[in-house]
Amino acid sequence: MNTNCLQGVMCPQCGHTTDFHIVIEASVLMTDEGHDNNPHDTEWNENSGITCPRCRFQDIVDEFRHPGFFVTIETVTEASAETGEHARSGWWEPGGWLLEGADNKPPEPAFLFDPDDVDDDDHEDLDEAIVEWAIALLKREGAMHPNCEPSDDATWWGTEGNEVLDFATGETIRKSFHFHGFSIQLRRQVNACMAKED
Ligand SMILES: [Zn+2]
Repeated sequence: MNTNCLQGVMCPQCGHTTDFHIVIEASVLMTDEGHDNNPHDTEWNENSGITCPRCRFQDIVDEFRHPGFFVTIETVTEASAETGEHARSGWWEPGGWLLEGADNKPPEPAFLFDPDDVDDDDHEDLDEAIVEWAIALLKREGAMHPNCEPSDDATWWGTEGNEVLDFATGETIRKSFHFHGFSIQLRRQVNACMAKED
């Protein structure tokens, strides 16, 4: 899983994540004879051209998105419920750690689609595998409540909020799963399937 330069980058055609040809902007020391071969200050961004070395698919970096879910959390204790406040709020980190504070967004989504887990025989294409992965995850986590109705354009799905974290304080947690790196079409497909689950 990429955690550095290529974090969040995946070929939308074949699921390749390891390496890509990216069109960079670079500054070199140019003389009349040419330049040294080591470009300095290489730069690329969401609009840079990118080619997958495995399937040769070409687009811009912004279209090479690695789907996943960022998860926000809110907890309520018996004491906080009396004042109508959340006991804690923040983010769910990869691996299931709780980060308090809205500013503490982790660099990586809590859940990331893993193209290596896809068995090519089970799916028509990568899109179908991504949609199935997302639905299975949301169902498994109990995230069955869309942030808007009808749910076609939902941007996140939340849990019921009755999962107990701490029996002593009665602290319960609600998790919200926010789409990240999904195209609008894929997000709508997931939303349509989730709506039928009700
Ligand atoms: Zn590819």
